Amino acid sequence: MPAAVKKKPAAQKVARPKVRQTKLLIGGEWCDSVSGQTFATHHPATEEKIADVARANEEDVDRAVKAARRAFEEGDWPKMDARDRGRLLNKLADIIEANQEELAALETLDNGKPVKDALTADVPLVIDCLRYYAGWADKVHGQTIPVRGEYFCYTRREPVGVCGQIIPWNFPALMVAWKWGPALATGCTIVMKPAEQTPLSCLRMAEWAIEAGFPPGVINVVPGYGDAGAALVKHPDVDKIAFTGSTETAQLIMRDAAATLKRITFELGGKSPNIIFADSDLDAAVAGAEFGLFFNQGQCCCAGSRVFVEQNVHEEFVARVIERAQARRAGIGDPFDMETVQGPQVDKDQFDKIMRYIDSGRQSGAKCVTGGSRAGDKGFFVEPTVFDQVTDDMEIATDEIFGPVMSVLPFRDADEVIERGNKTFYGLAAAVWTRDVAKAHRIANKLRAGTVWVNCYDVFDAGAPFGGFKMSGIGRELGEAALANYTELKTVTVNLGG
Ligand code: NAP
Ligand code: MG
Repeated sequence: MPAAVKKKPAAQKVARPKVRQTKLLIGGEWCDSVSGQTFATHHPATEEKIADVARANEEDVDRAVKAARRAFEEGDWPKMDARDRGRLLNKLADIIEANQEELAALETLDNGKPVKDALTADVPLVIDCLRYYAGWADKVHGQTIPVRGEYFCYTRREPVGVCGQIIPWNFPALMVAWKWGPALATGCTIVMKPAEQTPLSCLRMAEWAIEAGFPPGVINVVPGYGDAGAALVKHPDVDKIAFTGSTETAQLIMRDAAATLKRITFELGGKSPNIIFADSDLDAAVAGAEFGLFFNQGQCCCAGSRVFVEQNVHEEFVARVIERAQARRAGIGDPFDMETVQGPQVDKDQFDKIMRYIDSGRQSGAKCVTGGSRAGDKGFFVEPTVFDQVTDDMEIATDEIFGPVMSVLPFRDADEVIERGNKTFYGLAAAVWTRDVAKAHRIANKLRAGTVWVNCYDVFDAGAPFGGFKMSGIGRELGEAALANYTELKTVTVNLGG
């Protein structure tokens, strides 16, 4: 057979994983909910049911909080050396590393993301994050303070206590690692509520945590709906809530948390500006704009969803980004196939919301230059979509779409784009593409965002703090900064005067 007609080798597929755990984890025991209720979780590529998962309600949350409180006050956890907590975190990371294909496949099954992304991004970041915080466990120091008079004054960083952790569905396993890492390193105990769409990887990771040797009650998992999350927020014996999700839900949580003045940290939405100057390496910028928006089907809190392009390269940029979006369109497929580059959205609600925004973009006069429709007729697939000639007031330029929909906005100069980039109540991330180093730094300083990437996008590291200005969040995750979320500072003053 001549080379030209050689058949492509059969695409490599990762096998569907077995679902091993669907119950609640409370005090080291896997149990049904008190009500006996369950909820179904689905595979977004086929819409078929994967499993029924125990549904926690208020009573289950209360049992889990009691177990977490017991583990915090009594038993092995409060007595454990910090170094041994670090050892447990490292052991959990090792177990996950040994099972990385299973974890990646479970993410693909429950969330729909391409297994290649789960294998090369989500899971390695999970392992890295746990190891990073394992290293911090015995390095959370206090200070000695030179106070006036004959006193010895020092500070201690003590664990904040029982932590309620509520996470979304876009990076289910990674969000577990971001939340567990600093909480466990500092000696807190946890009641976690995974998102209703994607509870499975969290449950499997909890099984591995038990295998690693975390004592009973240190990690509790209560899958369920928003009411379980709300019960956690309202519970008087929860010391802290860490939440990642929508700004609207965060507002509800802040209200509910007021009654008990809980410590809260929020990682919320965004409408991040990705700013491309004419003096950038345009190939890299186009690739960065594509990746920065379409990665994870556009379901990223930091998605570069407002792509500002300097006027004189705007036309060329649009032509090139259309090409890339269309190539990506060709890579839509079964997420278990290693060649698939885009999977389905997580569920029908998200799919419908995205399609409404695409309609809104068309109606507001933006130009849909590629995509704009559902892909296929089964599963929640959306074509990679690019709108050109978007103006700042259009809904597609102001609202978080959380889907594969790029808005391109031409601009004239640096001052203008800084002002327009900052004109949003969000402030999670931003990026600047230019070869002019001084300009890049000047603009990075002026952008009101928690993360600014220069000539790159979505570069994450366990050591680099991440979080939002303005309505994109409160507090920072990752890095040393996250340790502050999980510790109380105690000042001890000792009279040396006799
Ligand atoms: P969401 O409602 O904010 O959900 C996030 C988590 O909070 C889930 O575990 C959710 O439970 C829980 N929750 C819901 N209501 C609650 C309440 N009253 N008290 C405590 N916890 C509660 O987000 P969503 O509905 O899944 O997605 C909606 C939009 O949020 C998306 O379109 C996107 O714009 C944004 N979002 C942002 C991020 C991010 O990373 N910043 C992630 C996901 C979504 P249920 O699973 O039962 O809803
Ligand atoms: Mg929801």
